[in-house]
Formats: sequence, C-alpha cells, structure tokens
Amino acid sequence: MRTKRRINEPLKLKDGDQALSEDGGHLCMAAGCDADAPHPAPRNRSELRSYIWFCLEHIRHYNRNWNYYEGIEGEALEEEIKRATTWERPSWKFGTGPSATVSTSQPFKDKFGFFEAETNSPHPPMSGLSTEEKQAWALFDMSPDTEMSELKKRYNELAKSLHPDHNKTDPKAEEKLKEINLAYAVLRKNFMKEKI
Ligand SMILES: [Zn+2]
Repeated sequence: MRTKRRINEPLKLKDGDQALSEDGGHLCMAAGCDADAPHPAPRNRSELRSYIWFCLEHIRHYNRNWNYYEGIEGEALEEEIKRATTWERPSWKFGTGPSATVSTSQPFKDKFGFFEAETNSPHPPMSGLSTEEKQAWALFDMSPDTEMSELKKRYNELAKSLHPDHNKTDPKAEEKLKEINLAYAVLRKNFMKEKI
C-alpha cells in the first residue's frame, strides 16, 4: 500500500523545458513521472502564461504546493489563471469607449510605453514588472512608481464612477469595474509584498 504524501511536501520538478513525448505530447513535469500530462499550470506567479504540464495526480500536488508557498487560496489562484489567459490586454481604454464621460476626461495615452515594452527594448521603470502588472498600471493610466495612497485614490474615483448605480444605461460599466477591481488587487498585493 502506498503511503499518502504529506500535504505540503514539495513537488520536485524535472529540470529544463517542458518534457515531450516522441509524438510531441506533453509529459508530466514531476520528477520521475512520465505519464501523459493534460493539465497545464503556470510556472510561477510572475509568469502566469508560461505553462508546465502535469498528470492529474501531480497537478493536484502542484496546486497544493502553490497554495502553500504563495499563500493564495484555490479560488484566487483560479482567478489569477483565468485572468492571465483571458486578459491578453484591456478590451477597452479610458476615454475612447462609448461611455467616455464616466471614466476620465483624458484620452488614453500609452505614455509609459506599456504596450511597446514587450516588442521593443524594455522601458527602464517597467523592467521587473510582469505583463499583468504593466496592464494594471496602464488601466489606471499611472506610473509604476506611484504611491499606494495615490493609486487607492484613483481606484476609489473609478470604482465610484463605474458603479452600476450610476451607470444603469451603460452595460459595459460593470465589466470595466471588474477589470479595475482585478487590476487593483494585483497592484495592492505587490505593495503589501514590498512592505514585508
Ligand atoms: Zn505525473
């Protein structure tokens, strides 16, 4: 009979790139396991779009480890992954949409080079930021060296102006509010991390 693994025992990974079978399918990245691996997992918090693949047993183990080491809950993790995979870039920009009057008076400008940074050489203040952080700062139209208090102020203004009670005729407002909430959560988490 197999002994049940202790729940927080680290999962050892194979070294290097994603392991592939001869016909190009994914093989489980757990060390010593060569099972087919239909389950993707983000490699780490800052590379949510960089996947490694596991069999069912090891994806479960990996998720437990992830929670243990990163301190985020199962649902939050799923939310992170969902956002990383669906939120390639904001689907709207402040000041350009049909509800421009409820957001900011300024048209959206890519003044910090967020969207160029990935193809050209990195903008210095942007280096070290993940794509989701860059997108979050771009949503707020703020520079990454902005103080938490300023960010919070901007967030509160936007959340208020996008609140469904004030936007009964704009079905997009709720969607925008969700993006703002997610972006704020990403940035706030980072501020908290820096303080520790
Ligand atoms: Zn496996």
